[in-house]
Amino acid sequence: MRLIDHLIAGGTGGTPARKGDIFDPNNGGVQAQVALGDAAVLERAVAAAQAAQPAWAATNPQRRARVMFEFKRLVEAHMDELALMLSAEHGKVIADSKGDIQRGLEVIEFCCGIPHVLKGEYTHGAGPGIDVYSMRQPIGIGAGITPFNFPAMIPLWMGGVATAVGNAFILKPSERDPSVPNRLAELFLEAGMPEGIFQVVHGDKEMVDAILDHPAIGAVSFVGSSDIAHYVYNRGVAAGKRVQAMGGAKNHGIVMPDADLDQVVNDLAGAAFGSAGERCMALPVVVPVGEGTAERLKEKLIPAIHALKVGISTDAEAHYGPVVTQAHKEKIEGWIATCEAEGGEIVVDGRGYTLQGHENGFFVGPTLIDHVTPAMSSYHNEIFGPVLQIVRAADFETALALPSQHQYGNGVAIFTRNGHAAREFAARVNVGMVGINVPIPVPVAYHTFGGWKRSAFGDTNQHGMEGVKFWTKVKTITQRWPDGSQDGGNAFVIPTMG
Ligand code: NAD
Repeated sequence: MRLIDHLIAGGTGGTPARKGDIFDPNNGGVQAQVALGDAAVLERAVAAAQAAQPAWAATNPQRRARVMFEFKRLVEAHMDELALMLSAEHGKVIADSKGDIQRGLEVIEFCCGIPHVLKGEYTHGAGPGIDVYSMRQPIGIGAGITPFNFPAMIPLWMGGVATAVGNAFILKPSERDPSVPNRLAELFLEAGMPEGIFQVVHGDKEMVDAILDHPAIGAVSFVGSSDIAHYVYNRGVAAGKRVQAMGGAKNHGIVMPDADLDQVVNDLAGAAFGSAGERCMALPVVVPVGEGTAERLKEKLIPAIHALKVGISTDAEAHYGPVVTQAHKEKIEGWIATCEAEGGEIVVDGRGYTLQGHENGFFVGPTLIDHVTPAMSSYHNEIFGPVLQIVRAADFETALALPSQHQYGNGVAIFTRNGHAAREFAARVNVGMVGINVPIPVPVAYHTFGGWKRSAFGDTNQHGMEGVKFWTKVKTITQRWPDGSQDGGNAFVIPTMG
């Protein structure tokens, strides 16, 4: 059976002691295996990173940027191949896979401008004959640990910025869909990045723990579910590392009575069900304000949901494909059952969905549940499937309180024609990323991505200037060049503002 192996200094990992199965979400069954590495495999990657990183850091930033330009060209040239590979393991439809890759490339475009953002600050004459300047230097070796749901975008969020600023980067992608990360690493090599600068090690908890404990790795960026994010954050920080750990989400869409409901329904079809709801910026909770809004919204949502087409990931007509594993399908269906038992009204039931010709595929039909309340565990927890819950709110303040008080605080959206309500909502809501009539408010690459509360541990976001800050250390230099001609010219004077 095909084996997805580590990519260490351009080579592979040898015969793995342990392997994991990679499923075929469209048909069920196992399509390939992935090597599950350990501390010894990591040690080889770290040694290669240590050998390569000083010269890469000393390479001028413009040359590093040229590698990014070439990488972008190569990924674009291989877009169809990468999208097919991604869909085959993840299950998302080809258009979504291309979106995943494209969003990652936008971070690479930001990295093409890295010489500009690394310029530092300078003060001439901060004291008598004294200048102060700062420089951003790479951490040295950084690692990224990524989830299954964006196997191109999230590795590039981290690995693009980390390498552009001069680090060596070791990626530990999800063991569910590891092929695209390997292919991206190969394309970095082809683009001219030296061996040892962007490497991939595969594995599960054993490899993650090895990364967290390795003394030569200075920074770890993690994206995944919240309990594991919290664990990674604590263990990494205890080992003296800089850690950012993004977690789960339960994003709300507030629908004000004056909203354009046709637009809202159209947006919800994509935001709640696109990619089978396996997006950390999906919109799985809709909060209509007022009973009238709730009834009108529900009436429009039902036919729109029935019109959604579920298909295999290469079906160009399909709205979304299978979920990633049988275990995940069962988990989603379990949450629907829990919500029903808790008193939720199942309006459209996606359980037990089968696709003709693909009866063993991991498909879940679109599901709509009304009369969900904050007391329900199915509201409190992330379902991460094609399930939309309606939580009715009597007024604006109640609607504002729902996402604000939820344990997760990744994204939120408000749909309204009222600028004052939108402005008030954006300022007061206790959530990291806000959309105003934008259902999935993922910031562009030169801004920054990150949630609040249990959606992110650590205080630095992904990409944009926050990413540059995370992957670099600031050094501040105070200099003087006494020429010996002044009185006391050689006596040191601490500069003051006086
Ligand atoms: P996951 O937490 O299961 O896995 C993430 C990574 O952690 C993987 O590389 C995995 O190998 C590793 N891992 C798994 N179990 C571990 C353990 N016990 N100890 C140490 N490491 C472990 O997440 P997933 O199912 O791959 O991805 C979906 C989750 O990611 C969802 O919760 C989603 O909301 C979240 N997510 C968050 C963001 C964000 O930016 N906040 C973005 C994308 C996905």
